[in-house]
Amino acid sequence: MDNNRIGWDWQQMYVVCKDHVEIAIDRFVDEYEEAPDIVDLRDVTFRAWKPPVRCEERDCSCEGRFLVV
Ligand SMILES: [Zn+2]
Repeated sequence: MDNNRIGWDWQQMYVVCKDHVEIAIDRFVDEYEEAPDIVDLRDVTFRAWKPPVRCEERDCSCEGRFLVV
C-alpha cells in the first residue's frame, strides 16, 4: 500500500489494540470531525513508516494491531 495514495494525515493517527479500536475511532471523530480509515497492521507494510509495537492507549500493553488514521 502506498502511504501517499490515500492522502492520510500522519499527524492524525492512532495505533491501538483490538480492544481499543472503538475508543480510538470515537476520539478521532471527536478531534478531527471525520471518520477515520481503519487498517489492520497485519495486512499491510509501510515503506517509510514503522508502526508502534504497542497500543498507544494509556496503560495498555497489548499489541498495536490497528491503525486509525
Ligand atoms: Zn489497547
